[in-house]
Amino acid sequence: MDRIDKNHLCSFCGTEIIDNNAMIGIDAAICSSCIDIYYHIMSLTKEFEVTEEQIELNLTPKKIYCELSKKVVGQEYAKKVLAVALYNHYKRIKLKDSNIEKTNILMLGPTGSGKTLLAKTMAEILKVPFVIADATVYTEAGYVGEDVENILLKLLQKCDFDKELAQKGIVFIDEIDKIARKSENPSITRDVSGEGVQNSLLKIIEGNIINIPPHGGRKHPYQEYITFDTSNVLFICAGAFESLEKVELAKIGFGKSSDKKPLSDEIMDLLIKAGMIPELLGRLPVIVKLDKLKKDDLLNILTKPENAIIKQYQELLKFDNIDLEFSSDALNKIASIAIKENTGARSLKRIIENTMLDIMFNVEEQNTLQKIEITEEMIKII
Ligand code: ADP
Repeated sequence: MDRIDKNHLCSFCGTEIIDNNAMIGIDAAICSSCIDIYYHIMSLTKEFEVTEEQIELNLTPKKIYCELSKKVVGQEYAKKVLAVALYNHYKRIKLKDSNIEKTNILMLGPTGSGKTLLAKTMAEILKVPFVIADATVYTEAGYVGEDVENILLKLLQKCDFDKELAQKGIVFIDEIDKIARKSENPSITRDVSGEGVQNSLLKIIEGNIINIPPHGGRKHPYQEYITFDTSNVLFICAGAFESLEKVELAKIGFGKSSDKKPLSDEIMDLLIKAGMIPELLGRLPVIVKLDKLKKDDLLNILTKPENAIIKQYQELLKFDNIDLEFSSDALNKIASIAIKENTGARSLKRIIENTMLDIMFNVEEQNTLQKIEITEEMIKII
């Protein structure tokens, strides 16, 4: 089929059409590069598409829990609570104009226990855009720093400014405990970094129409804004809340049952003492506490999840005809080092990457299958 006509210009980019893969219409033409870009945008959109069938037919809290378990080791209670919360959130979106309250989430738990991983996996399950924001970066309007509205801009950028899709996304706000109110009495001093930011977050989290500067930066008068409705955005705030770590789970109401317990006065008091403002807590009705990971959990994290780090290295080396194994002593040593470092599962990746560096560097494609076993002595701490 001959579709080339040298006199044609692409209606999108304006360049002269000189290749065979272009398309010429009656009043318009599109070059092959623009077709590729369009195809790319469409495939991105598809990746995130939330269909009604997906919610109605495929997902139940149990299925969400099973999907979470493919990637997240342990944290059974948290996975149950989150599965129910996620399911309810999307039912709420589907029912439009419903009276069901938004179920934003507050996750408490030590570093490296899987808070970010859980949130990211939740977004993957629902195929919605997901962004991570660090609460400590933001400041109250009028002070040096970033506006909290920029979090929503990140969400828009994530899905090529498809607003409808971004408005169903998941925002993970980390280090929420680091923007604690400095004093329990709000009137004593102006608290720019803590209370002020919590107040700004409150506005976007509770579900409002927010004005976002399209190019980021600080808002200023006479600027054009993108209006963004946060009613259906799921906000997950997370923090280590170290001061709460020693408090017994039962005492602060995180029981073993799968029922979502009402936010007790006692938890409220503890979180307010830790510097959270009551208004923001009121917008985070689901609270989950993650357990500190034990050595057995770390051993499982190394080998069990579908994308476990050891499985990834095994897959990489398979290309070069190498069969990679870790001895159980080696795995034990890795887990023991991680426990000592006290950063949950965070150290695991670094220890394995350091251990594997020389092997990966010296790798050459083998003609016959070769076996490499990583022993305890080969584990590199630094
Ligand atoms: P947090 O947000 O609680 O500080 P992350 O979710 O960022 O921790 O986890 C840090 C690293 O450890 C990530 O690579 C993550 O995959 C891994 N990890 C942490 N907890 C778990 C878990 N429970 N199951 C599987 N992997 C985990």
